[in-house]
Parts: sequence; C-alpha cells; structure tokens
Amino acid sequence: MKERLYYQDPYLKQFTAEVLERGHEADGTPYVILDQTAFYPTGGGQPCDLGVINDIEVMDVEEVDGQIHHRLRSSLSPEISRVVGTIDWDRRLDHMQQHTGQHLLTAAFEELFQAATVSFHLGKERVTIDLDIQELTEEMVQEAVALANRVAYENRPITASFMEPEELSRLPLRKPPTVTDNIRIVIIEDFDYNPCGGTHPARTGEAGPIQVLGWERSKGQIRVSFVCGLRVVRELGVKQGIIQQLTRLTSQTEAELPEYVSRMIAERKELEKSLQELQSKMLEVEAKEWIGQAETINGLQLLLIPLNERPMADMQKLAQHIVVRVPNVVVILVSLGAKTQLVCARGAEVSLAMNEMLKEALLLMDGKGGGQPAMAQGGGTTDMPMETLLARIRQIVTVKMENNPA
Ligand SMILES: [Zn+2]
Repeated sequence: MKERLYYQDPYLKQFTAEVLERGHEADGTPYVILDQTAFYPTGGGQPCDLGVINDIEVMDVEEVDGQIHHRLRSSLSPEISRVVGTIDWDRRLDHMQQHTGQHLLTAAFEELFQAATVSFHLGKERVTIDLDIQELTEEMVQEAVALANRVAYENRPITASFMEPEELSRLPLRKPPTVTDNIRIVIIEDFDYNPCGGTHPARTGEAGPIQVLGWERSKGQIRVSFVCGLRVVRELGVKQGIIQQLTRLTSQTEAELPEYVSRMIAERKELEKSLQELQSKMLEVEAKEWIGQAETINGLQLLLIPLNERPMADMQKLAQHIVVRVPNVVVILVSLGAKTQLVCARGAEVSLAMNEMLKEALLLMDGKGGGQPAMAQGGGTTDMPMETLLARIRQIVTVKMENNPA
C-alpha cells in the first residue's frame, strides 16, 4: 500500500511520481498509472479526488483491477516520464469532513438507538445515511447530533491501520469487512471501530460541526440527510439569508416568524371565506338586476345576458341565482373574452332541454360543451361581435320557446 500516499498522509496535496503506464479507456479517455499517488479513487462511498497532473486536468480517478487510473482531460506527452500531481484540496477536505462526520453520526445512532447504518451517500450538497430503524423522532435526532458533535469536539485521534483477519476478532467492529485481505480499520478512540478505505483527518475536531437537515422514510428504512464541517457554515449562510429576507418582509423577529406565519395562514383562510360570501352576495344582487330585464315569449321569460370575460364558475352561480327565483325563465349567459363561453339554464317550470339549446348555439362558434337538460355550459371561439352573437342566439332560442307547448 506504499504507493497509496493518501493513506500515509491524508493531508498531502502535492507529490511527484513516475509514470508506469499510459493508455485509453474504452470511451477514448486517456489515463495514466503512477508508481505512487495522492489521488484517492472513488470507493467506499467517498467520491474521488480531482486536480491536475502536470498541467492536465484530472477528471476522474478509479481503481481498475487493483491499479489506480487517473483519467485526464488530454493525453500526457509520450516523452514525459516523471510528473507532479496536485489534488484539489478543498474538495478532498470536504470529502474527509463529510465522510468522517458520517462515521460519527452512524456511531451515535448505533450507540444510542442500536440503529445500524445500511447505506451511505456523499452527495454534492448533502450526505445521507439509511438507518435500519422503524421510528425516528426529533428528540432522537437531536440526541444523536449532540453525541456526534461532542465526540467531534473532544478532538479524539483517528487512526487507521491494515490488520490481519485474526487481529480483528479483538475489536468491537460495527460491521464485518467487505474484503478479506489488506483490511483497513479506522479507529475513533473509544467510539468507533470500522473497516473503511476512505480518507480521514487526524482528529475528530476537523470533521465538525455535524448537523442533521431532515429525514424521511425510504424503502423500509429512514434516510437521514446531514452536512458536516464547512458545509454547515455554508448551509447556515443560506438559511440566514432566507431568514433575513423573511424578517425584513414581515417586520417580525426571527423567533416570532413561526407564530406570525401560522396567524397569517389562519387569517388568509378567514379572508377567503369572507370573500366567497361577498362574491356570492354580489352575484345575488346582479341576478336580481337582470331578472327585471326579462322579456316574455309564449308565456315564458327569456333573459339573454352579455358578460365580459367572466369565469365559468361565476356564470353558473349567476344562472342558478336567477333560475331559483324565476321558475319559468330561460337564461342564456354569454361571456366574450379570449374564449366565448355560454351557460344555458332553465327554471323548474320550463321543459326545454338546455343541453340541446347549447348544442345549436355552439354551432355559431365552432365550440364544444355539454350538460344536463336543466343546465348546460360550453365555449368556443368566434370573431362575431357581442351584438351579432346575441342576435343569432336569440333567433335559436326564440324559435324553440315559441314552439314550446305552453
Ligand atoms: Zn471512513
């Protein structure tokens, strides 16, 4: 393992190495194999290091058949045999913080609630672990976060060593190793003993703080998302920005926000209710005004009502207000807007089928619609001005009303 410099010194940022082999992956990407490297290859849930080899960008690092392939943006000149590798230290430090924080949080959940971590994902924004547990409460999460942070700030040493299988039986391992030789055990003093191939700082303090951001059920387990180290600082900055906007907008203090928002939601519901009542009353008043303008045809009342871009729901309510008050009325509402909309309704004493009447009226506008004999609605598009449209509809309706046996 001598060639894996990231194990000897996880803080090594730059190194020199001999090029042992160069080639191309199946997709054509050039790669080099070096006699030693500080580039950590993707593995054990930790993403690979990036950086440069000489001046060429390292795009991906992966272990293939025991050898570390450094995949490059462009080929290394054939005459170069000795290179300088520089890893992207911010990225590595971030990975070490998230990965080590995960060790601490996993150990805390196991120690406190016997909840084993069954999988782990180190994402670009957040880290997740899946816990084998049925229920998780806010109190449990807070307790685990507190323990993980306490161990972080006790700044305990983290050591890693390769062990023979027989040595392992003496350690309280959290999970069995997945490999049978070159087993690397990472030990957080008096807290966590874990087979792990990742990179870790020398002491737990460098991984903190650790903060859980949320949890949800996922495939019979509970997925906990969290961030560690500098990601906590970044996350706090983002959240602080949001809170500042909210306090400015509402003129409330941060602590008053939850109470203020729940009050606003309740008030809004009340307002919506009053608004609906008011709108209903206005429709009633409007209905009464129209009723006075009805004309009599063959013993029935006809009301042709032109409207300007009214929502269908309003038109239907207006029609209802009219028909309950005038049992022998036929009421046709026409709303002109981007779309022409029609509502045809009848009072209880009228037997004419409104859906039939609507069907004929819709022929004027290439429209569609439907409904019942008592009330029908539909719409379409037409270039006809309102006056022409009303006159044409009047013709259709009048013929039907005149032929209606009184
Ligand atoms: Zn680890």
